[in-house]
Amino acid sequence: MIKVMKFGGTSLGSVDAMERTASIIGRDGAKKIVVVSAMSGVTNSLIGCIRDRPPIEGVLASLRDRYSSSAKMIMSPPLFAEYGEALDSSLDDLRIVLNARWKVAADPLLDDAISSWGERLSSLTMAYVLRSRGVDSVPLTSEKAGIVAQGTPGNGSADLDATHRNLRNNVLPLLEKHTAVVLTGYYGCDEHGRPVTFGRGGSDYSGSVVAYGTDADCCEIWTDVNGFMTADPRAVPSAKCIEEMDYNEAAELAYFGAKVLHPRTVEPVRRKGIPLMVKNTFNPEARGTLIRAHKTNGGDVLTSVAVKCDLSIVKVYSSEIVYQPGLISRLVGAISDAAVNTYAVSTSLSTLAMVIPTPAVDEVLRRIDSLGEQQVEKLTVKGNVSLICCVGENLLNVQGVSARVFSSVADIGANIEMISEGASDVALNFVVPSDKAMDVVRKIHSTFIGG
Ligand code: ASP
Ligand code: MG
Repeated sequence: MIKVMKFGGTSLGSVDAMERTASIIGRDGAKKIVVVSAMSGVTNSLIGCIRDRPPIEGVLASLRDRYSSSAKMIMSPPLFAEYGEALDSSLDDLRIVLNARWKVAADPLLDDAISSWGERLSSLTMAYVLRSRGVDSVPLTSEKAGIVAQGTPGNGSADLDATHRNLRNNVLPLLEKHTAVVLTGYYGCDEHGRPVTFGRGGSDYSGSVVAYGTDADCCEIWTDVNGFMTADPRAVPSAKCIEEMDYNEAAELAYFGAKVLHPRTVEPVRRKGIPLMVKNTFNPEARGTLIRAHKTNGGDVLTSVAVKCDLSIVKVYSSEIVYQPGLISRLVGAISDAAVNTYAVSTSLSTLAMVIPTPAVDEVLRRIDSLGEQQVEKLTVKGNVSLICCVGENLLNVQGVSARVFSSVADIGANIEMISEGASDVALNFVVPSDKAMDVVRKIHSTFIGG
C-alpha cells in the first residue's frame, strides 16, 4: 500500500502545526510519500524578494530563522545540530542562485528556482521533524525524484509518463528502506534539470502527480478546512461539508471558485482512478471529502454552488465574426498566450464574449490590439461581474433544473449577463453583477441544498 500525503503551508506554519502534521503522518506504520509546500507566507516573501532585491544575507537569515525556530522547539539538540548543517547548506545554494539573479534584469527560470526554495526547506525540515518523532524519513527534492516539468516557467505542467518512469526508479527504492520520503511540492525540472514551478498553489497538483508517478493507492491532500463545502461558508453560514464527489465535480468546483484544491489536482489521479481525499490537519477526525470516479451517495441534483469574483466580460465586435477565417482562434490564442484563464466564452454572429479575471483585462486588450486585426470594429469591457458555478453530477440529466436555478436568480432581481451550460457535463455556470452574487449563491443554496 502506497499512500501520498500532501501538506500545505498552514500545516507546517508553526510548531503546533508541524507537530500535528508529524503525528498524522506517524499514526500508522504504513509507508508513505509526503509532499510538502513552503511554510505559509514563505513563497510570497521569496517572490517579493525577486521584485525588491533586498540584501541577500538578510533574506537568508530570515528564512533560517523562520524554519529553524520551529525546528529547535521540536528536535533534540544533537538532531537539531545535524538539521542546522543541512539547512545552512541549502541556504548556501540559495545564496548562489540569488547572486546570479541579482546580476540580470530578468530570468524567469531563476525566478522559479528562487520561489521553489520554501518547498526545499520544508522537505528538509519535515524529514527531520519526523525523525525526531521516531519516523524513519528522508528529504527528497523534485530534481532527485525526477519530477519532469514542461511548459512556461511559473505555469508548468508535469510530464506524467516521464515522471512515472523516474519515480519508480528513484522514489520506490527509498521507500523500501525508509518509512517516509518527504518530497518538495510546487515544482518539477525541465529537460536541462532547471526548476519550473506549477503555478501558485501548485503543491496540490504535485501531490497528485506523485500519486500518479508511484501508482499510489490513495492521495490525501491535508489542508486547513474540512473539505469541499456545499457553498463558501462566508456567504452561506449553513453550508455543509461534502463527503463524496466525483472527479468531474471536484475539478469544476476547484476551477470555478472553491479554494480547497488547486484546479489541476484532479487530472493526474483521475487518469489512474486513484482516490483523492481532502482532509483537515487541524481536525483530522472530520471525514473530509472523498473524490473518485463514482459516488456511492449520488442523487442530489446540486452538490455545491461556488462563486468566482473579480471578473470582467470582454466583448469583441466584428460583423459576421464567425465567418471570418481564423479570427476567433487568433483572438482566443492571443489570450491563452498571456496565460490568462478564460472562465467562459460565448459567440454570436457578430460578437465574441469572454469572461476573464479583471486584473488581466489590460494585458488581454493589449494583446488583441497588437494582433492588428482590421475586422475588429469595437471592444467593450464590462467589469464587476461574478461567475456563479452550480455543480452536480445530475444537473444536466434532470429536466427543469436550469429553469429552477434561473428563477432563483430572478427572485433576487439579478440580471444574467452570460450563460454557459452543457460545456461541462456537471456544471451550470452564469455571470451576474458582483453586487448580487452573494445573494444569488444564498438563494440557490437554500432552494437546492437547504439551510
Ligand atoms: N508554496 C507555493 C505557493 O505558495 C505552492 C503551494 O503552496 O502549493 O504557491
Ligand atoms: Mg494550497
